[in-house]
Amino acid sequence: MTDLENGQRGVKQESLDPENWGEMRALGHRMVDDAINYLETVAERPVWQPMPDQLGKEFESAMPTEPMPADEVYDEFLKNIFPYPMGNTHPRFWAWYMGNGTILGALADFLSATMNSNLGAGNHVANLVETQVVNWMKEIVGFPAEASGLLVGGASMANLVGLTVARNTQAGFDVRAQGLQAGQSKLLVYASTEIHACNQKAVELLGLGTDSLRRIPVNDNYQIDMTALASALEKDRKAGLQPICVIATAGTVNTGAIDPLNDIADFCQREGLWFHVDGAIGAVATLVDGLKDQLAGMSRADSIALDLHKWMHVPFEAGCALVRDRQGHRDSFSVTPAYLTQEVRGLSAGREWFSDYGVELSRSFRALKVWMSLKEHGTARYGRMMTRNIEQAKYLAELVSVEPNLQLMAPVGLDIVCFRYQPLDSTKPGLDESDLESLNKEILFRLQEEGTAAPSYTTLKGKYCLRVAIANHRSQQADFDLLISEIKRLGKSLTV
Ligand SMILES: *Cc1c(COP(=O)(O)O)cnc(C)c1O
Repeated sequence: MTDLENGQRGVKQESLDPENWGEMRALGHRMVDDAINYLETVAERPVWQPMPDQLGKEFESAMPTEPMPADEVYDEFLKNIFPYPMGNTHPRFWAWYMGNGTILGALADFLSATMNSNLGAGNHVANLVETQVVNWMKEIVGFPAEASGLLVGGASMANLVGLTVARNTQAGFDVRAQGLQAGQSKLLVYASTEIHACNQKAVELLGLGTDSLRRIPVNDNYQIDMTALASALEKDRKAGLQPICVIATAGTVNTGAIDPLNDIADFCQREGLWFHVDGAIGAVATLVDGLKDQLAGMSRADSIALDLHKWMHVPFEAGCALVRDRQGHRDSFSVTPAYLTQEVRGLSAGREWFSDYGVELSRSFRALKVWMSLKEHGTARYGRMMTRNIEQAKYLAELVSVEPNLQLMAPVGLDIVCFRYQPLDSTKPGLDESDLESLNKEILFRLQEEGTAAPSYTTLKGKYCLRVAIANHRSQQADFDLLISEIKRLGKSLTV
């Protein structure tokens, strides 16, 4: 009997639902137990471990054509996937710049996937949730209630959204209709040399070209040099080019520096430029009492990119783009084909659809995990967690500064500490730059491979260093003592 005939005879037709809901319920309960155990005991495991060589083979199997019981799929996950995480849930993970996630955030993602709402369009409650979350973000950065915004995958996308509106608003012609070819002169964007690479991608995607991103030198605190910015602008204007935007960074990725936001706001106002802030790291740090003044200038921005999956520990992915001028924002992205016309009643009612403010049409209900996380912890606790990370960074810098074989490589910005092992008491002739690079790389590899800790690395003024970015609500003071004692042990054993 065919499936069609079955249907006609009232026999239940196949779907992707479980045949036995009771079994699926039991499996679901097991998964929740396993997930909670996993996070409850995370500190007992290595931060990271290399994947066994043969593991790759497991992921070369043929594409499945026939069904497999869900619990067998789950067993494969337990065996081959769960034991080899990136490590960023661990208290001694301080690489790049990442959040830890939380269990409620993970459960919220499960609920959001269960509802499976699409935030591109439509008249349903998820829109209210995202609208509220975006309103909270405006409050955090000091933006007016009329500003617009949306959640996106991360700050890379949020910067692209903000810079798109900047370009379209500042170009002086209709970029959407005519394309960049219609322009008389080259459009330029300014930022410091410490700018995050995603902004370069954005500038390239916007058709401006990498050369149009002017990288202005920084001072000793890794903040943009305002004098150099002013003279670069003057020179470019004299050459007949068209400056449109300055990107300030609130929390640079290398050292956590905050550009002088009020100075840049004044400068942009005076020069008629769009003021964009890349606040992937530091925008949410307005929740730290001691940083409110330094971040106040952010509220004068035209657009801001921020991340919730970093210092707010919402599980990946969660970023947010905010734009002061709602109409300009909408004018950059809104397209209304017949199949997306907004109605006054029913499922298609409602004026504000998030797809009119960004690149993507289909959008996940990521707002739920942000909404639930903010309610669970409240901004005061988030502020305390960030404040503690900042104090831990100072504590770590202190440990570095009293140790003769360790050298601090940059002023500590926010929660980021850059330093390296540099033996001064060595009886051997002094190590040169490339020896020091190899030595510190080896220390880093061993820390990671032994599962002790996961810092990352960068190069500052041509010098390789270890970089500890403490966006971690699980790190305890003793974790930093252990880091330093292990680095000293490794450094010593590698230089005898
Ligand atoms: C992480 C980061 C980004 C990119 O954000 P994603 O969320 O990874 O897309 C942009 N700017 C800065 C300063 C960052 O630290």
